[in-house]
Amino acid sequence: MTTKTALVTGANKGIGFAIAHGLGLQGIRVGIGARNDARRQDAVDKLRAAGIDAFGVPLDVTSDHSVAAAAADSIHDLDILVNNAGISGGDQQNPTTLDIDVLRTTLDTNVFGVIRVTNALLPKLLRSASPRIVNVSSNMGSLALQTGPIMAAYAPSKTMVNAMTVQYARQLADTAVIVNACCPGYVATDFTGFASTRTPEEGARIALKLAALPDDGPRGGFFDDAGTVAW
Ligand code: NAP
Repeated sequence: MTTKTALVTGANKGIGFAIAHGLGLQGIRVGIGARNDARRQDAVDKLRAAGIDAFGVPLDVTSDHSVAAAAADSIHDLDILVNNAGISGGDQQNPTTLDIDVLRTTLDTNVFGVIRVTNALLPKLLRSASPRIVNVSSNMGSLALQTGPIMAAYAPSKTMVNAMTVQYARQLADTAVIVNACCPGYVATDFTGFASTRTPEEGARIALKLAALPDDGPRGGFFDDAGTVAW
């Protein structure tokens, strides 16, 4: 049996770190995608101290150059890609006064980042026997549910992550690559100011489940712990 390799973007803290930890505990070799050298190394050290086969991947998902370098230099084989890196875009997200730069910045990380990283790594995923892509979305992106506060950059960014997930799943329907989106729930991280009792480990659970789907598992869906999330 060969060891699987995963890459988690934004894995130096929060839900991404918990996903990396969870993958590592399954014996998967896990790349810690992070843009800051010290924070990345710190995460790799912590995971290695827990017996996990972790390695650092310098990665800023907003940079074409950084993403191309990660694909060329750091990742050789890849079975699982978890697109987790994300930003809220801040607290000025009234749609009627929205600064277009806030929208641009939020989309650049949350949406274009997913596309940049996925497309750069797809050739390696296609060489895997059971490749999986998990896009960490949010139920705030659900047009049907309309949950959470009004966030006119963040929420639509996740709506587009969901839409892209469907586009990828359709394009990759005849391949072994299974692509899905997930919502981790409202989790205590820097992102939420730790204003929740839900732990990053609990938030990581659905991403770990989708990363381990069997070959006949669902494609192009949006899931949380309770099952399918409405679009
Ligand atoms: P977090 O603790 O703020 O972590 C976000 C991670 O993304 C950090 O590692 C951050 O790195 C990284 N990141 C941001 N911009 C990046 C870039 N340009 N390149 C590479 N990495 C970048 O947030 P979290 O709560 O764990 O969120 C993780 C994901 O879950 C996000 O996609 C978020 O939208 C989603 N989510 C979270 C919640 C929640 O309740 N927390 C709910 C629904 C969905 P730095 O340390 O360098 O900033």
